[in-house]
Amino acid sequence: MQQDMPDQNFHDTPKLHEGELTNIRELNRRQLEALMKELGQPAYRARQLHQWLYSHQARSFGDMTSFSMKLRQQLASAWSIRPSSLASVETEPTQGATPGHLPTSKFLVRLDDGELIESVLIPSEERMTACISSQAGCALRCTFCATGQMGFKRDLAASEITDQVFLLDQEALRIYGRGITNIVFMGMGEPLLNLDQVIEAIATLTDQEYRFSIPERKITISTVGLVPEIGRIASSGLKTKLAISLHSADQATRERLMPVAADYPLDALSKAITEYNAKTGQPVTLVWMLLEGINDSPEEARKLARFAKRGLCKINLIDYNAIINLKFRPGYSDTKTMFIQRLLDAGLHVTVRKSQGATINAACGQLATRSVNDASKPQQSL
Ligand code: SF4
Repeated sequence: MQQDMPDQNFHDTPKLHEGELTNIRELNRRQLEALMKELGQPAYRARQLHQWLYSHQARSFGDMTSFSMKLRQQLASAWSIRPSSLASVETEPTQGATPGHLPTSKFLVRLDDGELIESVLIPSEERMTACISSQAGCALRCTFCATGQMGFKRDLAASEITDQVFLLDQEALRIYGRGITNIVFMGMGEPLLNLDQVIEAIATLTDQEYRFSIPERKITISTVGLVPEIGRIASSGLKTKLAISLHSADQATRERLMPVAADYPLDALSKAITEYNAKTGQPVTLVWMLLEGINDSPEEARKLARFAKRGLCKINLIDYNAIINLKFRPGYSDTKTMFIQRLLDAGLHVTVRKSQGATINAACGQLATRSVNDASKPQQSL
């Protein structure tokens, strides 16, 4: 069953600095409804205001021409509109790249309070995938992940999630000549720890009446495997895809890689997956990053096959991308071939994702806005 969004009053929203008007993009839909009600407006005006902000991307209340002059003035006297902005963009060098390789681009996005997050555009022949963040930093401290090393800053508001998509869509058109076709919540943060805002953002991004709209099935939410929240997604009616970072089907190894796994043993995770399968009719993707000497053995392949066959699961093998200060190494290619073959022999559906963006620290596990990664590479400041 879908849980209700917290029914905050919009008056709770703090102003950044004394004298500065509160950013109306901090309000969720319910808060916009409460605001319009307080202003004596009919309920449909809240939907119109939301459309002005997130479909038309209005930068001023004066642009909202479907509102009376009085309403525009009332809004402008109490609120401001301050979307997130691009702080820098970095595109992979094409020199020395394999022919046909499309360069990945990484974006530093500045939030209204000055916090910085990262988002990535991953182009391929058929797709333009935006990898977006749901939190600034992350509290879960997975041992292989740069974001985990920087610690947790704060949750993102739904508008800060959608802003990344709007900014990246414009950049995709500018850099590659085509817009976003897919979205993955695989940037900074654990989306299931900020699920209310993620669900609200998805509602905006999939609204067919809005200028930017993408089908829910083109969105993938990725989690380390938070069992109660997987249950919530299963019951929510969301049509998005679900990816679970498994990385090991051995409980002790999994806990070593992802300390939070101690709270969600493999049996409980497997049960959550089968319930998700039953409620949604959809498989989950088990993401597995091959790490030399840790999870690339025949025994790990056997355990993975056994775990995957307990539910409806696909397997996505990804390359580990070296992160400065972290001691892991990617699995050898012959070990990888053996590992894949064992999974195929077990009758599993396996895809292998080639790493993209590693040269600009934009690949899986490499996103960090502070000093964890080597920041010496030049970036184009905006
Ligand atoms: S892998 Fe995901 S959940 Fe784990 S620390 Fe990194 S961002 Fe957080």
